Amino acid sequence: MTDLPPHDWPELKPGWVWLCGAGPGDPGLLTLHGLNALRQADVIVYDALVGQGILDWAPQARHEYAGKRGGKPSAVQRDISLRLVELARQGKRVLRLKGGDPFVFGRGGEEAQTLVQHGVPIRVVPGITAGIAGLAYAGIPVTHRDVNQSVTFVTGHDATGAAPTALDWEGIAKGSQVIVIYMGMKHIGQIADRLIAAGRSPDEPVAVTTTATLDEQRTIETTLAACAADIAAAALEPPAIICVGRAALLRQALDWRAMEAGALPRDVDPLELRRPAEAG
Ligand code: SAH
Repeated sequence: MTDLPPHDWPELKPGWVWLCGAGPGDPGLLTLHGLNALRQADVIVYDALVGQGILDWAPQARHEYAGKRGGKPSAVQRDISLRLVELARQGKRVLRLKGGDPFVFGRGGEEAQTLVQHGVPIRVVPGITAGIAGLAYAGIPVTHRDVNQSVTFVTGHDATGAAPTALDWEGIAKGSQVIVIYMGMKHIGQIADRLIAAGRSPDEPVAVTTTATLDEQRTIETTLAACAADIAAAALEPPAIICVGRAALLRQALDWRAMEAGALPRDVDPLELRRPAEAG
C-alpha cells in the first residue's frame, strides 16, 4: 500500500471475507485498516448507512448493496451471509462493509458465525460506532467525570421490530447514568415512559442527533417527558442516536461544530451536570 503510512498492512487474500466498520458517516472516521481493505477488495458488500464517499475510494471493486434496514425479516440477513460465502468460494477478496462498528447492533457476529460455519476465513476490522462518535459530533462526551461512571448502549427495537421487552428498563434506569439508544426513533415514547416509570426524572436532559457526523447532522435538546413530541415537531428522521442523561447538557459548552460556524458556546457549571439530588 504505497499511499498508507509505513506499517505491516495485512493482505486481503482471495477467498477471505473482512468484516469491516465504516464509521458513522464522515469518511474521515474510517480506520486505516478499513482503507487498506478498501484498496484491496474485489467486491464490497455494503449496507445502507455506509457513505458513498467511502465507496468512491475503491473504484477497482464491484459495489454490491446489501439493502438491509433495521426491522427487516431475518431471511434477508441469512441471504446476505450466504452471499458472502458464495463470493468467498468464487475466490474473491470480499469486503463486508457495515455502518459504525460491525459488532455493535450490526449483526456482524451473525455474519461472522455463518462464514466460519462454512469454512470461510475472516478478519474483523472494528469501526467507530455511532453511539460514541455521533454524540461526540454533537458535543457530548459519552462519559464525563461530573456526570457518569457508566454508560449503557441499548437498541430501541428487538428482532421483531417491537420495543425490546427483554431489556430490564428498571435496572437500566437505576444503574446507568447515561443511556445511549440506537434505533430508538420508533419507540422513543414508550421507552421514555418506561424510564420515567422506573424513576428517571421527566425533566432529565435528552439529546437526539440524526445523520451524525455528516453535513446534514441535526441535534435537538429536549427532556425525557417531551422528547417524543419534540422529535415529531422537529420532523427528525432516522438514523438517530438518542442520549438520555445529563451528559446531554455538555453540548451547550462543547458544540464544536457550531464553533466552526462562529458561535461561542456557554460554559456549563459542573454542579448543573450532577443529578439534582447529588448536587444537593
Ligand atoms: N453498527 C452501527 C449501528 C447499526 S444499527 C454502529 O456501530 O454505529 C443502526 C442504528 O445506528 C441507527 O438506527 C442509528 O440509531 C445508529 N446510527 C448509525 N449511523 C448513524 C448516524 N450517522 N447518525 C445517527 N445515528 C446513527
